[in-house]
Amino acid sequence: MRKLPSEPSSVTVIKDAANRYFLSFVVEIQPETLPKTDNSVGIDLGIKTFATFSNGTKIDAPKPLKKRIKKLKKLSKSLSNKTKGSKRYEKVRARVAKFSFGMLRKHGKLKDTRTDFLHKLSTKIIRENQTVVLEDLNVSGMVKNRKLSRAISDLGWRQFRTFLEGKAEKYGRDLRVISRWEATTQKCSCCGFRGCKLDLQVREWECLNCGAKHDRDENAAINILVAGGQSETLNGRGGKHKTSASGSSSLC
Ligand SMILES: [Zn+2]
Repeated sequence: MRKLPSEPSSVTVIKDAANRYFLSFVVEIQPETLPKTDNSVGIDLGIKTFATFSNGTKIDAPKPLKKRIKKLKKLSKSLSNKTKGSKRYEKVRARVAKFSFGMLRKHGKLKDTRTDFLHKLSTKIIRENQTVVLEDLNVSGMVKNRKLSRAISDLGWRQFRTFLEGKAEKYGRDLRVISRWEATTQKCSCCGFRGCKLDLQVREWECLNCGAKHDRDENAAINILVAGGQSETLNGRGGKHKTSASGSSSLC
């Protein structure tokens, strides 16, 4: 059992969907400081790749629940086709109940996997960077598509941001969130040229103005970092690429 850093001022018992019990303690802690660093990072969050950093690093997320939900839906549908009270009905019903219960337990486990992943990733990012820039994602408004919404909430973008905020405060790091109206995807991070809106399938593109070849997410992450005002740390090539509407042109 882990020792608490000080006497708790309160204790709460929490029961989760998988019927597991947790104790939550409120304790006072001294803020820790990390040694200052010159590193800064822009982060682009995505569905295929969970996070792409402005230095090109890509981080994949653990697989979500989709498959299991699909199976449960199929079983429920099969149940609705049977006559209530019949032998077949009872048989399927028992399977649904068993599967649901099993799924809830698994769900608990999967949730732990995701939370663990988000904790480790956010700690690493905060440890390694003085300034972290994220895009403000309006998750609920962004996607009217229910399928996409589920994928996004499974990924835990919101939770990830909360973790980053908490750790930035705890360790004295600078977390900046830029407006989601910045054209981070279609703007060339080398010359500022604004290309056409890119379809989600387009993962790589070439700038029509300067010929630079871009990985879609990495280019967006660099633009996020620049928009966060940390362009000077980007191998010294940021300064002249300040975002300005007059400085960029577009063919679209
Ligand atoms: Zn360009």
